[in-house]
Amino acid sequence: MLKSDNYDVVILGTGPAGLQAAIHAARKKVSVLVLGKETKSSLFHAHVENFCCLFNVSGEDMLNVGRQQAVNFGSEMLEEDVLEINSNGSVFRIVTESGIELQSKALIIATGTTRNKLGVTGEKQLLGRGVSYCVECDANFYKGEDVAVVGSASAAVSGALTMLGYATSVHLICDKLEVTDALKEQLNKSDVNVYKNAKVKEIVGENNVVAVRLENGSTLQVSGVFIELGAKGFMELATTIGVQLDDEMKYIQTNKQMETNVPGVFAAGDICGPPWQMAKAVGEGCVAGIGAASYARKAGKTL
Ligand SMILES: Cc1cc2nc3c(=O)[nH]c(=O)nc-3n(C[C@H](O)[C@H](O)[C@H](O)COP(=O)(O)OP(=O)(O)OC[C@H]3O[C@@H](n4cnc5c(N)ncnc54)[C@H](O)[C@@H]3O)c2cc1C
Repeated sequence: MLKSDNYDVVILGTGPAGLQAAIHAARKKVSVLVLGKETKSSLFHAHVENFCCLFNVSGEDMLNVGRQQAVNFGSEMLEEDVLEINSNGSVFRIVTESGIELQSKALIIATGTTRNKLGVTGEKQLLGRGVSYCVECDANFYKGEDVAVVGSASAAVSGALTMLGYATSVHLICDKLEVTDALKEQLNKSDVNVYKNAKVKEIVGENNVVAVRLENGSTLQVSGVFIELGAKGFMELATTIGVQLDDEMKYIQTNKQMETNVPGVFAAGDICGPPWQMAKAVGEGCVAGIGAASYARKAGKTL
């Protein structure tokens, strides 16, 4: 049960960016509501070993602690998605999936990104057990192993080149390469095994990935499959209130204070672009939380 339907700051997203924003905003003694589902955070299925000052922690445990911290500082939480946002110029109106209508003076968008999926058998079942959407995050788990990277654009090619520093063998499964000549040359000179015009049919394994089956019938024995098809953000909500995206229309554009072009709207985390890393998400969340709290204070007393 919510205490109010009017808040100084409403935060969309309960991932690391949203939670850190909530912690910092609530400490400024403004009213804060955080919306979203913890299990939908990218961090939920992660095992993190590259976040400063912490060894090898589960993402789920981190989210539980972050949530508790946000609540301890006075934030309220509601496990619902937002379906609609609009603005009358000074107040934002937010509608959740169960039809709850809320108002806020400032808004923080921290809704993360959705990794593009292959949609093949084994992909969902083996996520976190050999299937990964992030070379940068998980490369270290595949030291001395054989891996495949799937994708045709720069994320996949640079991911495959990065994996050469960790894995014994790297297979790049791609359609038609969509990369610059310089990157193509780097790839051609490397030890990456390139399979052009190839498509994954199935990721094979019971408890862990053991192979990738291609549509042409061949099978590659690998213990890791990195799916690097780029990422798409939850832009629709942002654009309905006039938030400006970057030149490629992929991410929300902000300044260093994490302010968007719309007064009172801030953004943080993966939705602002790569690197998709927790360290960046919490840093941006902190800046956005402080900024949104101070914006709401300047806008006047609680609605
Ligand atoms: C398998 C895996 C392993 C990873 N490993 C690492 C690692 O080792 N180290 C590292 O630093 N990073 C890692 N990452 C990346 C890291 O998890 C992300 O960078 C980080 O979670 C981004 O935080 P965020 O808050 O921006 O978004 P997310 O954590 O994705 O959170 C987004 C939030 O927005 C909410 N949301 C979405 N749409 C709506 C809506 N319409 N209304 C309300 N709420 C909404 C979701 O419910 C969710 O709560 C990994 C990611 C994956 C997938």
